[in-house]
Amino acid sequence: MNRSRSDYRKLRKRAIHRKESLLRQLGGEELVQGWERGAAGRLSKGKIHCSCPLCRRKSHDAPSARDRRRALDAADQLRETQ
Ligand SMILES: [Zn+2]
Repeated sequence: MNRSRSDYRKLRKRAIHRKESLLRQLGGEELVQGWERGAAGRLSKGKIHCSCPLCRRKSHDAPSARDRRRALDAADQLRETQ
């Protein structure tokens, strides 16, 4: 499919606008400014989330199933000996 320059302009504008309104819903104008830092075009690329350990939640941050089972077993054994 051949795309003209106006197609790309619209696409870009739509992407920026979508992320702007998302940010505005979540954290108001302050969050929008925090992400744009003066240039709205920053939002034309990339995703709007933070992947630092404080914000993200990943399964490998929690103890593994093996470790959880071990902890449960240890607790059971303690209870049985009492
Ligand atoms: Zn973060």
